[in-house]
Amino acid sequence: MVTSQPTELLATESSQSLLGVSRAGLEDFFHTLGEPSFRASQLLKWVHHAGVIDFAEMSNFGLRLRERLSSVAELLPSAFGSEQRAADGCRKWLLELSDGGAVETVFIPEERRGTLCISTQLGCALGCTFCATGYEGFKRNLSSDEIIAQVWRAHEALGAFSRSPPRHITNIVFMGMGEPLLNLEQLSVAARLLRDDDAYGIPGRKLTLSTAGLVPMIDRIDASLKLSLAVSLHAPNDNLRTRLVPINKHFPIAELLASCQRYLERLADPRRSITIEYTLIDSLNDTPELARATARLLRGLRCKINLIPYNPIASAPWRRPSASAVAAFRDVLRDAGYTVTVRATRGSDIAAACGQLRGKVPQRRELRA
Ligand code: SAH
Ligand code: SF4
Repeated sequence: MVTSQPTELLATESSQSLLGVSRAGLEDFFHTLGEPSFRASQLLKWVHHAGVIDFAEMSNFGLRLRERLSSVAELLPSAFGSEQRAADGCRKWLLELSDGGAVETVFIPEERRGTLCISTQLGCALGCTFCATGYEGFKRNLSSDEIIAQVWRAHEALGAFSRSPPRHITNIVFMGMGEPLLNLEQLSVAARLLRDDDAYGIPGRKLTLSTAGLVPMIDRIDASLKLSLAVSLHAPNDNLRTRLVPINKHFPIAELLASCQRYLERLADPRRSITIEYTLIDSLNDTPELARATARLLRGLRCKINLIPYNPIASAPWRRPSASAVAAFRDVLRDAGYTVTVRATRGSDIAAACGQLRGKVPQRRELRA
């Protein structure tokens, strides 16, 4: 068994899955086979640039090594079971896991970039009251294999494996199902692979981790990964935020913002900032007064604010705010000097928008709630 990064290798009796193993783990693996370190780089390129997962096709490995690999290791990404395409070009896939569960992955094409939204958990334990995933409850963490399988399968589906490194997907957001910081270990392994130029070559700043605000875990993010951090604020005071994001009881706003400061200090790059996400719900947290309170609260934090008009879900009673309420909220923040964007609602006709992911084929009536 490999010793330096044991959690990276998922040993089974007969074979080790190598799909979600990053360079250091692969180097250890090849050492155990008596092979040099550069085999890791060769394998990464086969799997993540060329999309080849059959050892027999890896022509720069000798016949003996190919046979050895086939007997001790495997590369079997979980498969996409179904695909839905939205009118705006978004595509949503259901990744079928080996234990019968399924998680959702969404591709959002834009003019100059392609963003893949991936899941890190099957379900979610945090129960935010406006989120469909939260109502499904928590089932389990995904392995780095299952996290990378979403990226690998998306490249396959997009026909993106012909270039090195592949370029259709320029940004990855850990904003699918689950709270990424409750699966930080496997996420970090996956992030190392996503950043590696012999794999997907996506810089850390284009990998965005969104958290509901688990303060101690924010302090444990490996700053050398350079990940972008997005924080789901949604309200400028603890009473209201606890109603929306119950974990706020344990990690109130002041502590959350202090941990954001610490993360920026650890990144030690004045160009980097935190993204503050604020889902706007009609007449609940979308008033100009709350916009002013948010502006005061965030003073001193290097941040950008991303407003997300609420996407209605069946389990919650709320409504999406009017376009004018969204614009008014935005303008208060802009006038206070913040960079503010309003997240375009993408893929809502296939229930692929923020908060609508449930790991099931969606029912259309939810969208009309
Ligand atoms: N679990 C992570 C990522 C969630 S999805 C987190 O909580 O941060 C990304 C954003 O969408 C989060 O800010 C989340 O709070 C928000 N969101 C969840 N459900 C939503 C909904 N129904 N409408 C709009 N935004 C929602
Ligand atoms: Fe979990 Fe995020 Fe949904 Fe909250 S918003 S329930 S943390 S997935």
